[in-house]
Amino acid sequence: MAAITMKNIVKKYGDGFPAVNDVSLDVRDGEFMILVGPSGCGKSTLLRMIVGLEDITSGDMLIGEKVVNKVAPRERNLSMVFQNYALYPHLTVFENIAFPLRLAKTPGDEVRRRVKQTAELLELTEHLDRKPANLSGGQRQRVAMGRAIVRQANAFLFDEPLSNLDAKLRGQMRTEISRLQRRLGVTTVYVTHDQTEAMTLGDRVAVLRKGVLQQVGSPRELYEEPVNLFVAGFIGSPSMNFLPASVDGSFLETPLGRFELRDERKLAAVGDREVVLVGIRPEHFEDAALLAEDKKAQGSIVRAHVDVTEWLGNELYAYVPYEAPADLTAQLRDLSRELDSDQLRTQAVVALDAASDLKPGREAELWIDSGRAQIFDPSTGENLT
Ligand code: ATP
Repeated sequence: MAAITMKNIVKKYGDGFPAVNDVSLDVRDGEFMILVGPSGCGKSTLLRMIVGLEDITSGDMLIGEKVVNKVAPRERNLSMVFQNYALYPHLTVFENIAFPLRLAKTPGDEVRRRVKQTAELLELTEHLDRKPANLSGGQRQRVAMGRAIVRQANAFLFDEPLSNLDAKLRGQMRTEISRLQRRLGVTTVYVTHDQTEAMTLGDRVAVLRKGVLQQVGSPRELYEEPVNLFVAGFIGSPSMNFLPASVDGSFLETPLGRFELRDERKLAAVGDREVVLVGIRPEHFEDAALLAEDKKAQGSIVRAHVDVTEWLGNELYAYVPYEAPADLTAQLRDLSRELDSDQLRTQAVVALDAASDLKPGREAELWIDSGRAQIFDPSTGENLT
């Protein structure tokens, strides 16, 4: 096992825009680190540079104490699980798992012992004589993991290993991977574009955008203290609502209504700005009709017109269209380099207690946990709170 250290890593393909741009990241010994971001953000490129499948344009990659920039992939002693599993179709499950041991010329007894042990861990014992074609997607995935863990590698690297599975199986495999990683305690770097995987699997999560590392932190830190609009919008599902707001003393005038910022820190964050973006997570709204008076007093109430509702059994999503004053929206769009256009929505998504009986087409009183609202600078996207 070993730590992986990236120091100012840059990757340029040809003379284009850097696919990875000055990334410095420490993956601690035994840690489960997730690299997450939208398609094209450079996460696979970064992983491929760790493994040695891609040259590094500048910067240093260390495994343990050793700089491995020029070290061949095989010498790095890392195990990688690919999206397409890369199993050998003509080999049995046993031989697929045994493959890295055979390469290392491990004695036959030792191979049998290790494959057996790995198969038990992954519940593949009954399938050892089968060929990959005769396995389900989940079983194939487990064989690919078996091949990765059968030898003592410095670290495991996963490149979107669950993306070919259906939603239910993905959930199941997620818990299996998590359990396995904890049990083996091996340094793991896991690439995904799925924020749910990122939040549930990792000890820490590194969020990338256009080759640039935005934030590294525990899932909770990313959720509660995102450093900018991008991280705030990417982490959490449904994603955070961003409301343009004009500032009037300690009050914020938003398209959903006016509410007061009572928190000194938040007021200080707003400073003398005239316009800010207020981020409110869908789950920080509640149907005011369900709340006791003392709880209501801890937040702000707004009146809203509910357009569509979706009852999910455990929650009720309500869609609340709003009209932001055109000049404010235009001003924000001009100011904002960070905002992707769909983040300035024309509706808020709110996630309410399933007991709510809000109906589409009705007016409703919504309570906002305004103490948890986040304030963003519309010109830089920086979280001011
Ligand atoms: P995805 O989730 O779609 O795989 P990603 O975040 O893993 O995306 P990368 O595959 O690392 O992104 O790609 C990052 C950027 O580098 C993209 O703009 C991509 O087009 C570019 N890129 C990747 N591989 C090459 C290559 N071999 N030659 C040129 N450009 C490349």
